[in-house]
Parts: sequence; structure tokens; C-alpha cells
Amino acid sequence: MEPQKILITWWLGYIWSHTAALFAQSGYEVVLLDNLSNTHKDQVLSSLKILTWKDLTFYEGDVRDYDFLDKVFEQEKPDGVIHFAAKKAVWESCHDPFLYYDNNINGTITLLEIMDKYQVKNLIFSSSATVYDAEKNVPPFTETDRLNTTNPYWTTKLVMEFLLKDMSQHKGFNVICLRYFNPIWAHHSWLLGENPKGIPTNLVPYLLKVAKKEIEKITIFWDNYPTPDGTCIRDYIHIEDLAQAHLQSYDYLLKKVEKEQITEEGNLAPAFEIFNIWTGNGKSVKEMLNIAETVVWEEINNEIGERRDGDVAVSVANPIKAKQILWWEPQKSIVEAVEDAWNFYSANKGA
Ligand code: UDP
Repeated sequence: MEPQKILITWWLGYIWSHTAALFAQSGYEVVLLDNLSNTHKDQVLSSLKILTWKDLTFYEGDVRDYDFLDKVFEQEKPDGVIHFAAKKAVWESCHDPFLYYDNNINGTITLLEIMDKYQVKNLIFSSSATVYDAEKNVPPFTETDRLNTTNPYWTTKLVMEFLLKDMSQHKGFNVICLRYFNPIWAHHSWLLGENPKGIPTNLVPYLLKVAKKEIEKITIFWDNYPTPDGTCIRDYIHIEDLAQAHLQSYDYLLKKVEKEQITEEGNLAPAFEIFNIWTGNGKSVKEMLNIAETVVWEEINNEIGERRDGDVAVSVANPIKAKQILWWEPQKSIVEAVEDAWNFYSANKGA
């Protein structure tokens, strides 16, 4: 059998690089697409080459650009798509919701139109556990819990899930939505990791930049939430566990499509599945601060500040469905994840 060719869309560079490495190492042909809005391209591509021993095909462009995507699909004829491309900062989405609806929703619609044109029907979608109603559900959330969001970024993820469900039902797409949150992005090789342009918005890279004295201090966004230490609880996960979940999901999708039952009308029933990809073990901001201090061997300068727009107290989900159906389980601890991030950051500082 010919190796499957996978197209990976991404705008922020991190998850796709790990997932790209794993797919390439697992025998897939990988094509990458990024608009480079937040990525050090040369560093990522050369690291991918060292890890995979391959020059992965790379296209610079935007998933909202129909003509660009058309050319890529015509040239590459991929068998499936892993769709990461989305903007992802809560505060930014509150300040500019148009930007988020345009990037995330219009980008997905354009991608689906092109996939439909070329009859590429298999898609893994990078969703988010932020689609859960954090006020009404009791954590850990399960895939059938109530859905609701509190800011435009999260809403775009929920809309994309609905969009994909409709497209699965009415246009025959086979889709798996992976709901996750708070990845820590460094590969154990120290070759791939988070190196955002400018000041980071996420907790772990921010903590590490303060530890490196590149930023004076970190503000903990409020300490009066209804949690044991008053700070928000999230479920942080090592990026390699997440990449593995994408690989196992795609393999599962292929097997499911192969074996799929025929509908009464004699058509192939499309697949649509949702999985939580989490550890099920949340940590508060203060606990993360302590872990980071243990890893870097010194205190990290911090202060308590106001709550951030759009934050919820606890976001932790139950990964049991992924364990039972995908046979996926996280292999790496949170301490390992922060250590890998610190090692990557120390090795690549200023890159
Ligand atoms: N956080 C914080 N200070 C920061 C960045 C983040 O206290 O400078 C908190 C934030 O309120 C949230 C948690 O750390 O509770 C994780 O935030 P992050 O932005 O990494 O991910 P999110 O959960 O918002 O997607």
C-alpha cells in the first residue's frame, strides 16, 4: 500500500511541528502549510529534518486563501488533513472578535471547500476543551457534557465543531475532533519547542522567560477563584502525548472508514467522533509556579493581579473514551513536560 499523504495546517508552528515529526517518523508523507505569523520557520524545518531524516514539503500561505489552497491540493493530492490553523489567545479574541471569526471560521470553511473539491474526506481537527460549559458541568468534563463558551476564541472552536459535524453528515467528511487544552510544547530532543515571537501569553513559556530574567515578573491572574489555592486549575499535557493522540486518531479514522457500515441508501456512513485528550489531572497556577521553580532551581518573581477576561476557574477533562477507543494514554508527567520546555528554551534562547 502507498504511504498516506497528510497535509498539516497551522499558524502558530508548535503542535504541527511535533505532530509532523511523529507522522513522518511513522511512515506518512507529510506536507506542511503555515502562514508563518508566529513561527521561526527555518529553525523548525531544520529540526524536523534532523528528527525525521527527511525534507518535509512546506508551503507558506494562509488557509483563508482559496487559490493558494487549490494549488497546494492540486499539486499534492493529500489523503487526509490535520487541521490546526487557528488563532488562540483568549484576550486577543475579546479585543478583536472579527479577527478570530475570520481566521478560525473562514479558514476552516475554505479548507473544507477545497477538500470537498478534491474529495479529500479525512480530517483530524484540533478542537479545545474550552467548548465545555465550565460553569454548569462538574469537572472532569466528558465528551457528552454541556457545551458553552465565554469568549470569542472558544466560541470559534465550538462553531468549528458544529460545522464539521454538519459537513460530516451532509458532505461525507470523516472527522475526529480532539478536545485538548494547555499543551506544553517542548520535544525531549530539545529540537522542537515553543519559541514565540514577542512576549508569550501562555503560562509556562511566560514562567520560563521570567526565570531567564527576560521578563521582570509574572502576574498570576487572580487568586480568589473557588479552587483550593484560589488560582485557576488547568490540565497541562506534554506535546508529545498530544502528537501521539493525533497519530492514533488518524489511524483509527482510516480503520473505521475502511470497515464503515453501509447506510440504508447504500452509501458509506461518514465518521464523526470527539475525544478528550487530557491527563485528567489538573494543576493550579500556583502549583505550576512551584513545579517551574523546582525545575529551574530558583524562585520565579511573581505578583497577584486581576482576573483575566474570559478565564474560568477549573478546566479539566476525562480522557477515558480516548483510552478505551484510541488506546491512547499520556506517557509523560507534567514535571517532564516543564523540564523539556526549560531545556529547549535554554538550548534555543535567542534563536
Ligand atoms: N496565567 C497567569 N498568568 C499569565 C498567564 C497565564 O496567571 O501570565 C494563568 C491563566 O489565568 C490560566 C492559566 O494560567 O488560568 C493558563 O493560562 P494559559 O494562557 O497558559 O492557557 P489558557 O488556559 O488560558 O488557555
